[in-house]
Amino acid sequence: GTPRGSEAKPEGQSSKLIRYRGFRPPVHFIYQAPGGDHHQPGARGGRSMASEKDAALAPVPNDNPTIFDKIIKKEIPSTVVYEDEKVLAFRDINPQAPTHIVIIPKVKDGLTGLSKAEERHVEILGCLLYAAKVIAKQEGLEDGYRIVINDGPSGCQSVYHIHVHLLGGRQMNWPPG
Ligand code: AMP
Repeated sequence: GTPRGSEAKPEGQSSKLIRYRGFRPPVHFIYQAPGGDHHQPGARGGRSMASEKDAALAPVPNDNPTIFDKIIKKEIPSTVVYEDEKVLAFRDINPQAPTHIVIIPKVKDGLTGLSKAEERHVEILGCLLYAAKVIAKQEGLEDGYRIVINDGPSGCQSVYHIHVHLLGGRQMNWPPG
C-alpha cells in the first residue's frame, strides 16, 4: 500500500505540517466571513489561529474542575440561553459564528470528553444533543447548523468538561479542518 508518515512524499506546506504534528486544525481555523446577521459580536473570533491552537494544546487532559463549573455555580457570568434539570447552555465567549453556543451537562460525572464516555453516560449524551436541537430552533437556525464535539489535544479540546458546540448563522464549510 501507500507509505505513511515520514515515508510519504510531502504534498505541500500544510499537509507536511499535519503529518509532522499529527495535528488537525479545529473547525474554527477555517471559518470564513459570516453571511447572516451577527447575533454575537466578534463572531469571527478575537484570538489568532495560533492562540486557538495553543489554548487547545496547553492543558493536560484531567478531571479537575474547569471554568464551566464556575459558570454552572454562577461564580462567573455567562449568557445562558437554555437550562433544564441536567443541561446548561450559554454563548461562547469567543464565538466562531454569528451564533455559537456551548452546551454542557450540569454534572460532569467523569465525562471530561467524549472519549471518556461510559454506558452510564448514554442518557446525558442524548440530552446534550436534544438540547442542541431545541436551542437551534430557539435561535432561529432554520437553515441548518453545525454541531461539534472536540476531543483531546488532537481534537483541539481546551476545556475538559464535555460540551457540544452549536454553531450557526452562516454557511459552514466542509471538510471542517
Ligand atoms: P473546546 O475548545 O472545544 O474545549 O471549547 C471550549 C469553548 O469554551 C471555547 O470555544 C471557548 O471559547 C469557550 N469558553 C471558555 N471559557 C468560556 C467562558 N467563560 N464563557 C463562555 N465560553 C467560554
